[in-house]
Amino acid sequence: MSQYPVVDQLQRPVKDLRISLTDRCQFRCHYCLPAEHVAVMRQQSQPEKHLNDEQITAVVAAFAQLGVSKIRLTGGEPLLRKNVPALVHRIKQVKGIEEVALTTNAGLLDPVLDDLVTAGLDRITVSLDALDPELFAAITGTQYPVTQVLNAIQRCVDSGLKQVKVNCVIQKNTNEHQIVPMLAHFRDTGVVVRFIEYMDVGTINQWQPDQVLSSQHMQQMVAAHWPFESLPPQVKGEVANRFRFNDGGGEFGLISSISQPFCHDCNRARLSTQGEIYTCLFAHQGHDIKAVIEQPDLLLQRLTEIWQQRQDQYSAQRSQQRPSNKGKIEMFMIGG
Ligand code: SAM
Ligand code: SF4
Ligand code: SF4
Repeated sequence: MSQYPVVDQLQRPVKDLRISLTDRCQFRCHYCLPAEHVAVMRQQSQPEKHLNDEQITAVVAAFAQLGVSKIRLTGGEPLLRKNVPALVHRIKQVKGIEEVALTTNAGLLDPVLDDLVTAGLDRITVSLDALDPELFAAITGTQYPVTQVLNAIQRCVDSGLKQVKVNCVIQKNTNEHQIVPMLAHFRDTGVVVRFIEYMDVGTINQWQPDQVLSSQHMQQMVAAHWPFESLPPQVKGEVANRFRFNDGGGEFGLISSISQPFCHDCNRARLSTQGEIYTCLFAHQGHDIKAVIEQPDLLLQRLTEIWQQRQDQYSAQRSQQRPSNKGKIEMFMIGG
């Protein structure tokens, strides 16, 4: 569907666009938007400058011409935005878009799930770092009951979505003891749990390398309970290493951004709420495209230039370059 092949300086195409629908969130995950930094969120958030549905769809249409076929709606908490099903429906009409997915904390999912499915949502990822109620509350900084998140996940499974995943960020000495219970809970349900190495996104979480549990270690923890085998990637640029339980209990994944960076295949672009393109999760600055959003030819030209200039490989260079930790975009502003 691409108008012409567009690749970046490292010959990587653009295939996947992640759209931040809001930079606000009702949770206060301590590694993303800790309660003491809510003032930062309020200061930086300028809802009056947020892109509307029409503008977002225009960016999707331009990216589709450059080769993007997958869209992920994220945030902040994307379901804080009004009428997400209408936006899903619009995006699904764009020629070349094959799949629309959503990443959510599930706190606001229940009332809107049926409408999302009807609108054409294909996949959903729910973030869940602990089954233990007290630990869940401590990590998310909310009183929202973990049982409600689990109910919402079950409703997603029953809803006919193509795929339901759970994202679980593992922090050493915090929640690694949840890995086995999480898999025990979701085995045989069709839900794919992906354990993610804790990353140095943004600055407010004051990430330290010793807070990372390597995926290799996670793999050993799982192997002590269930035998499993590796699965080949389904598509080039897939971020998770996939595994299948030998007893037919299903799949799980490991995302090793720290220990095994996957920049060489990274084909993801990100659109912020205010109309900036970020070509890396660890970028310090985005490219402002708001001025050309309503002019399709100029928008296409600008996106092509941005992608062709791209050289990002932050994770691959993390250990050699020790880049400055200051000024990186925060996760709640750009989405996972
Ligand atoms: N609010 C939604 C949610 O939590 O699902 C969507 C946005 S949230 C920023 C997207 C994902 O990023 C979540 O799964 C979250 O756990 C993950 N995330 C946030 N900070 C992270 C970090 N420092 N390292 C790894 N994953 C992180
Ligand atoms: Fe909110 Fe998601 Fe960040 Fe948690 S990870 S604070 S749910 S944006
Ligand atoms: Fe892509 Fe940047 Fe992550 Fe590398 S560090 S995989 S370039 S988002």
